[in-house]
Amino acid sequence: MKRTGRDTGAARAISGRYDGGRCEPSRRQAASKPDPTPMSEATLAPGLYLVATPIGNLGDVTLRGLAVLRGVDRIFCEDTRVTARLLARYDISAPLDLYHDHNAERARPAILAALRRGERVALVSDAGTPLISDPGYKLVQAAIAENLPVTAIPGPSAALTALILSGLPPGVFLFAGFLPPRRAARRHALERWSALDASLVFFEGTPRLAGCLADMAELLGDRPAAVARELTKLHEEIRRGRLADLAAYYREAGPPRGEAVIVVGPPRGRDHAAVDSRLRAALASLSMRDAVATVAAETGLPRSELYRRALAIRGEKE
Ligand code: SAM
Repeated sequence: MKRTGRDTGAARAISGRYDGGRCEPSRRQAASKPDPTPMSEATLAPGLYLVATPIGNLGDVTLRGLAVLRGVDRIFCEDTRVTARLLARYDISAPLDLYHDHNAERARPAILAALRRGERVALVSDAGTPLISDPGYKLVQAAIAENLPVTAIPGPSAALTALILSGLPPGVFLFAGFLPPRRAARRHALERWSALDASLVFFEGTPRLAGCLADMAELLGDRPAAVARELTKLHEEIRRGRLADLAAYYREAGPPRGEAVIVVGPPRGRDHAAVDSRLRAALASLSMRDAVATVAAETGLPRSELYRRALAIRGEKE
């Protein structure tokens, strides 16, 4: 068991300094009722706390997240070096234990036993929201099955941050996590998602970016997309374009540094509201012919369809 910080008692002592309050994990029966308990007492109730942590910028942790990390008996994390940096920044000295892909089966019974004893346990991932592409799900599932208290302290998420910065329709989206590393399986997965009328969000390692984007262009169609890299960090970059152009860019430039999320827009022409609003804006300053040509170039939609929509928009005004 790896430990940092002083001891479990230290966590309690530090939690006593926090005057933000009590945080009560809800039991399964109460799942339909949000817990209205304000954070008005210093001690934490026993239970499992799923705490979101920054995806790069350490300033992005929440006040409640810090209060919980200060107040728990121990924190389970994927990599103690990563989590220790966050704790050091905020002068938190709760003990750290490992819970990751390679020890989850072994570590889970000990965490459940601690919860049964009434301990306060936090689960964090290296970055962002725990469970999202890490083994936390099985722990939560097991805790719920035993009716042990579980609650979440929401916060940063690379998937949602990329989606809202992509400029692509966020109304309906599928978070697809990591695609399989092998090309055949990756292509199979992409085929499965190709007919979905939704934006698609993928985690991807930067070395595979160009190959992945090329497969997406082939199997999903040359849709608008965005690569969101190094989010919240000094070199944050959002590169927007068609899948084929993005694939060509990264093939040429080579794998970029850091971490990336790929967001792909819905299949052509499905996002009628966005197309209409783009047409409306173009019609405000251009002739119908030029407005249609502009939006056709932007969206890849057939001009005949855009003419129909443009005529309907003009008709609305008359
Ligand atoms: N649980 C995390 C969350 O909620 O954001 C995601 C962890 S997942 C194991 C790691 C993947 O998240 C990376 O491969 C990358 O796709 C994405 N990611 C994490 N931090 C990122 C960042 N700062 N910028 C872009 N992508 C990031």
